[in-house]
Amino acid sequence: MRWAGQTLDAADDGALPGLERSGLVRSVQTPEFEGITFHEVLCKSALNEVPSESQVPFSWTVNPMRGCSHACRYCFARPTHEYLDLDSGNDFDSQIVVKTNVAAVLRKELSRRSWKREPVALGTNTDPYQRAEGRYRLMPGIIRALTESGTPFSILTKGTLLRRDLPLLTLAAQQVDVHVSISLAIHDADLQKQLEPGTPSPRARLDLVRAVRDAGLECGVLVAPVIPFLTDGAKQLDGLIGALAEAGATTVTALPMHLRSSTKDWYMSWLVKEHPALVRRYRQLYGHGAYVTPEYKQWLRGRIDPLLDKYGFAPEQTRSLPVNEPAEPRASVTSGPALTLF
Ligand code: SF4
Repeated sequence: MRWAGQTLDAADDGALPGLERSGLVRSVQTPEFEGITFHEVLCKSALNEVPSESQVPFSWTVNPMRGCSHACRYCFARPTHEYLDLDSGNDFDSQIVVKTNVAAVLRKELSRRSWKREPVALGTNTDPYQRAEGRYRLMPGIIRALTESGTPFSILTKGTLLRRDLPLLTLAAQQVDVHVSISLAIHDADLQKQLEPGTPSPRARLDLVRAVRDAGLECGVLVAPVIPFLTDGAKQLDGLIGALAEAGATTVTALPMHLRSSTKDWYMSWLVKEHPALVRRYRQLYGHGAYVTPEYKQWLRGRIDPLLDKYGFAPEQTRSLPVNEPAEPRASVTSGPALTLF
């Protein structure tokens, strides 16, 4: 076996109870993914039902991995790693749980007579096109299973690896509704490297938007999170939304950053180090909670809306959110892993 020399026998060495509960088969490190450990698990189920009270525009999700090497400081999924007895900081970025049998399990679930072919969202928890997908190639099997069962689906990603599957997605779109959304909120490459160190550059993601459009698919862009005092400047947002228009994005949706539980600590530890002058303003903006104040939200809306108009994008109020958008918390979606059902 190709990786045998690098395989860690996690059952003997450093096995974690949380991972064992998740069906751990083995833990693997490879030279191509320095600093990352893949925990290969066999999942029992692939489809996760979103609680009806979540008020998000999709009913089901599939999450082929847990943890994300894109390593965004603000990632709202970080706390979910704690359910595996891993930490929500460096472990989230480097201890990646991979459901190696997810496509086969999904196919079985989709074949049930009770399956109503409701839309399925990918990318609601962690990024399905993070680097690990290059090694495990889970998405082609998932896309085929959804398409062949007649199930509409959506994908949200920052990963340029999605290019590999564009021919497959184009074929899928001839049979079912397929929504592709790219997440790009930081136009400045230096800031992107600091805040999203494992992600493809802004330029690469703009090129990805072009590639999706060239493949004949619509491509929404999620400008989220808008990061208070760092990416919300008039010139910054103008530059980004103008670039998205130029790349051919079909819709743009902007959402301010929220910082929940341990994600808040992780983000704030970075802010204290890199932008200490902003700490007091953040304390005022977020107070003791996870969300920006209504005043900031309204102020941001007032900044974004004219830019959408300037570049010919529909106002956000007049259209539905992308199916797999990590909707801004409303009502009951305020805490806990509401969208991170594993
Ligand atoms: S790409 Fe998405 S899932 Fe991955 S770390 Fe960034 S925000 Fe989290």
